[in-house]
Amino acid sequence: MFAQPASDLAGTERGREAQALLRNCVHCGFCLPACPTYRVTGNELDSPRGRIYLIKQIVEGATVTATTREHLDRCLTCRACERACPSGVEYGRLIDLGRELAEERVPRALPQRSLRHALVAVLSSPHLFAALLRTGQAVRNWLPAALQERIPPRRASHSTAPPGRHARRVALLEGCVQPGLAPGINAAAARVLDRLGVAVERIAGEQCCGALGHHLGHTGRALEQARRNVDACCAALDTGAEAIVSSASACGLMVKDYGRLLANDPAYAARARRVSDATRDVSEILTPADFECAGLTPGTGPRVAWQAPCTLQHGQRVAGRVEPLLAAAGCTLVPTREGTLCCGSAGTYSILQPELSLELRRRKIAALTPGAPDVIATANIGCLEHLRAASPVPVRHWIEVVAEAFDR
Ligand code: SF4
Ligand code: SF4
Repeated sequence: MFAQPASDLAGTERGREAQALLRNCVHCGFCLPACPTYRVTGNELDSPRGRIYLIKQIVEGATVTATTREHLDRCLTCRACERACPSGVEYGRLIDLGRELAEERVPRALPQRSLRHALVAVLSSPHLFAALLRTGQAVRNWLPAALQERIPPRRASHSTAPPGRHARRVALLEGCVQPGLAPGINAAAARVLDRLGVAVERIAGEQCCGALGHHLGHTGRALEQARRNVDACCAALDTGAEAIVSSASACGLMVKDYGRLLANDPAYAARARRVSDATRDVSEILTPADFECAGLTPGTGPRVAWQAPCTLQHGQRVAGRVEPLLAAAGCTLVPTREGTLCCGSAGTYSILQPELSLELRRRKIAALTPGAPDVIATANIGCLEHLRAASPVPVRHWIEVVAEAFDR
């Protein structure tokens, strides 16, 4: 698809990047069936190809309306379309660019801007988020049902780090909302790694990974958070950590992208690349053979429906690793449907696009439960909480399910 950037973009880095990204799209439409929003609305403008046309128009200087921006807002950034595209269109980069330009050309009304600022401020601050969560949990029983659903019951706190007595060490990302919502996840990761001879340490000075701000158009703030995390992660690597490990696939994806995001910053480019190259999802540092050596017996655990977050399978391109780990930990994997489709969580999407989000969740739960699982396992705190609120069975992080197998 050829695009002629408007005069304010022509010759600029963003203009050249937009041209290069758009050029690969040949309008074939193979991506349409992979797109969750197109599957729900049936509107071409809610499909990857339709959104690419809208971005081309924005780049070429056509009038941008609130309706244009709404079709871009409805995109989950799940990147299922990238996996389906035979031409290698980097849709994730295109939608970020398109949103940035749309944001500049059609500023949002004050209430919308305020809501987005508040979401970024609260969700990227672990202490503020935890304080508000505790308050919400304390008054949960007196709130309307719709709000109660969004506030999970309080869970016991856990110590993350078992004794660091091993020669092998990794640095584990804490994340922002996960310590408040589900402190047991990183504690479970630390226990499993400890049993396998790998010590876990915290990352001093860790900030929010920046994903929330990045996807809501707060690019400057997101890059500043990325720089501070590059400093903190490099310090951990310098003192002997063999990897930066994430148990939240959305955060892991963002950190793996630091190298690209900071490629034009001379002070950070090389170190950001080092951090990205050293970052692993927790499933990437475990193998089924580790569990067999640890004496776990197949067929002794729960029946599990596996839900692969988009950030893990489409973003990080880590697919097919968790299922054999669960099987090696004794679980029986039950059949599911539509495994490549988003559950509708997508960061703040469930708050900003509630109708589409709820419909996608309804479809996802229906696709996960025909095999009568005891538990749904996933790999990202956002998906976990979104599904938990409507699931007929418990929803856990897969590493918690594995840790319980070790505990048995
Ligand atoms: S599949 Fe790829 S090339 Fe075809 S329309 Fe979609 S994005 Fe464009
Ligand atoms: S990122 Fe997901 S929601 Fe957005 S266009 Fe691609 S498939 Fe559709």
